[in-house]
Amino acid sequence: MNQFVPSEYCLKCRGCCRFRDQNSVWSPCLLDEEIVDFADNKEIPAVSVSLTKHLDLVSAPGEDGYLCPFLNPADNICKAYLQRPFECQLYPFLLNLRYNKVILTIDLNCPYAKEKMNTPEFKEYAVYLAEFLNSSAQMEILKGNPHVLQAYEEVKDIVELNFPDTSH
Ligand code: SF4
Repeated sequence: MNQFVPSEYCLKCRGCCRFRDQNSVWSPCLLDEEIVDFADNKEIPAVSVSLTKHLDLVSAPGEDGYLCPFLNPADNICKAYLQRPFECQLYPFLLNLRYNKVILTIDLNCPYAKEKMNTPEFKEYAVYLAEFLNSSAQMEILKGNPHVLQAYEEVKDIVELNFPDTSH
């Protein structure tokens, strides 16, 4: 998946990968395939996963709230960056479940997203991302992982995705 936010911008921002609540809906929720891959992958730190398939967050000295277990808070680097979860690759975009529809939304707490929201670059990326997510390959993955479709509040809608009605 192509990325919208440049990585050098992310490294300077301390907003991501840190969470106010231990059971935050914003913490990375893993695809079933990722849970298997992370358990088998000896190149990344071992982590535990909750019953809701979220990474179990950790606390760290000098940090408020909770951190993703893959985050190195000293340099803001993700220790699993190349294998990071689908949700992390998607962020600041989110798959928001609302009234049984799946809406591609954006979290304007991301300062880069807020700054770029009305630019042609943003619109072009949003079109690309919606097409990517609507592809049959991605839809198959999402249909197999309905738990990653979550309800987020205070996000901005971009477009409804072609996901089948989740009430059936
Ligand atoms: S997996 Fe990496 S990118 Fe995702 S929340 Fe954790 S530290 Fe951040």
